Amino acid sequence: MEFQAKELFAKHGVPGTPGIVANTPAEARAAAEQLGVCVVKAQVKAGGRGKAGGVKLAKTPDEAEAHATAILGMEIKGLTVNRVLIAPAASIEEEYYFSFLLDRSNRSYLCIASVEGGVEIEEVAKTNPDAVKQIAIDAGTGVDEAKAREIVAEVGFPEALTEQAVQTVLALWTTFVEEDATLVEVNPLARLAGDKLEALDGKVSLDENAEFRHPEHADFEDKAAADPLEAKAKEKGLNYVKLDGAVGIIGNGAGLVMSTLDVVAYAGEAHGGVKPANFLDIGGGASAQVMADGLDVILNDPQVKSVFVNVFGGITSCDAVANGIVGALEILGDEASKPLVVRLDGNNVEEGRRILAEADHPLVTLVDTMDGAADKAAELANKAGV
Ligand code: GDP
Ligand code: MN
Repeated sequence: MEFQAKELFAKHGVPGTPGIVANTPAEARAAAEQLGVCVVKAQVKAGGRGKAGGVKLAKTPDEAEAHATAILGMEIKGLTVNRVLIAPAASIEEEYYFSFLLDRSNRSYLCIASVEGGVEIEEVAKTNPDAVKQIAIDAGTGVDEAKAREIVAEVGFPEALTEQAVQTVLALWTTFVEEDATLVEVNPLARLAGDKLEALDGKVSLDENAEFRHPEHADFEDKAAADPLEAKAKEKGLNYVKLDGAVGIIGNGAGLVMSTLDVVAYAGEAHGGVKPANFLDIGGGASAQVMADGLDVILNDPQVKSVFVNVFGGITSCDAVANGIVGALEILGDEASKPLVVRLDGNNVEEGRRILAEADHPLVTLVDTMDGAADKAAELANKAGV
């Protein structure tokens, strides 16, 4: 969100004013009393807030309170506004667009920038693409001062702003690299009265793969907006995505789980249209604990009526998985309350099936084929009533 991007900007010396976050109209009023003339800005992870009526100028604390009342609770692109940013109003003379991003197709970085920035940037890109510059950045050397000067010249920042623009470009590059971002975007980067250059808006996408280097990034996550089951799964290190259906899915390997979703959706057509309830890839070593964690998340989804465990033993052998399932059911005890359809195949499958048959758990049905198991799981979910 903008206020978080601006925190990162401040940390790395990008010029701008962070402002004050308000969760209620009263807090917005208090912030406006402190800041004077200000803008009230919806904080949601979407662009186009200005056009949607989520950015309003307030000359007085009364106005700030009224705007906050209108903006809080508003929906912008399907996202509910839970907080606003109160930022000191700026007197804008020109608006520029500036970004650094990961350029996947060229396996490098890219700067996209335009001196015709502002809320119409998409329009500019369509009608006057030459005004939007794309400057390749060598991933090995990055952006040093010479490269920053080259960028500033190419984009065509006005002469009076050259030095500030060079410093800002360097600070944005530092933000991009040090925070492990995949995108750093400023629109508008504004020329204010008195030839001051400031970032009036900001968007930063962080690379989740680099989370381990940035424990502090966890604070940026909007925990209130996260799905509680997804949050729990994340806490346990599981690769889980909540979906809308009634058949819980556990598999090993992303590809197998994706095809399991398809097979279950297809099988569900003959059973009242039941659908998969989630994606969950438990990966390679399906230990009892990982299986228990996965089942725990899925069984706590009130929409789930049956569970399909679909494992192909490759490096992991089926007997380890079978022991994992038996162990998980022991760990969960009475919490395991929904029927489980298990399909095992691959490495050491005979032993795996023997272990499950011997355990003879009342909730578990063993089915030998993927299609057969999907059909059984869909049938059980439909019977349990969706
Ligand atoms: P977005 O529409 O979600 O990109 O939100 P922005 O933060 O970019 O705000 C949209 C527009 O509101 C900007 O392009 C500016 O024209 C205007 N705006 C934002 N902050 C200020 C400000 O402090 N003063 C003035 N006068 N206009 C602002
Ligand atoms: Mn913007």
